[in-house]
Amino acid sequence: MQSLIDHARTFHQKVSGGREQVIPPCDSASPQAMFITCSDAQVIPSLITGARPGELVELRTAGNVIPPYRLGRLTAEAATIEYAVNILGVQDVIVCGHTSCGAVQGRVRSWTLRSAPTTRWWLLQTHRWREAPATGDEEAGQAHLVAQLDKLRRYPRVARGLAAGRLRLHGWFYEVETGVVSNYRPETGTFTPL
Ligand SMILES: [Zn+2]
Repeated sequence: MQSLIDHARTFHQKVSGGREQVIPPCDSASPQAMFITCSDAQVIPSLITGARPGELVELRTAGNVIPPYRLGRLTAEAATIEYAVNILGVQDVIVCGHTSCGAVQGRVRSWTLRSAPTTRWWLLQTHRWREAPATGDEEAGQAHLVAQLDKLRRYPRVARGLAAGRLRLHGWFYEVETGVVSNYRPETGTFTPL
């Protein structure tokens, strides 16, 4: 923790000295894309994409879970997605899962979440949760990712944007062990390297 505090304490010096690229290269109100991914500390969207400040809107949840849309139900996820699409006008939304995901492992082996009942209930909100195949880590993670994409498509603004051709969805799967990123191809139901 101390190294994090030390960096934060001196960060402004690096900014003023031009040693950190923290000044948005373009209008910060017009990010390139929204990146929805897991809260896992091994997944760093700006490292994976090379995005600079101002280029990505991030939404991070345990297991990159997107709750099913329900009219009248307020969730932080729905509010963040709505703001990104309606106000910021993002045209691309990436949902990124990853290998060795604790949430996905908890889905396959629920006993691992005995001491985290809130997390377990949160994960159960995903209506396809119980359909997770008890297969390998990668297969379970990818199936979980596809389920999140299916739910995201049902958000009204997302559905309208997709129908009008104003919005594109991308399903990415990140291998934390190798850095390889694969892209979901809905037409074949397969993942291929970007
Ligand atoms: Zn994860």
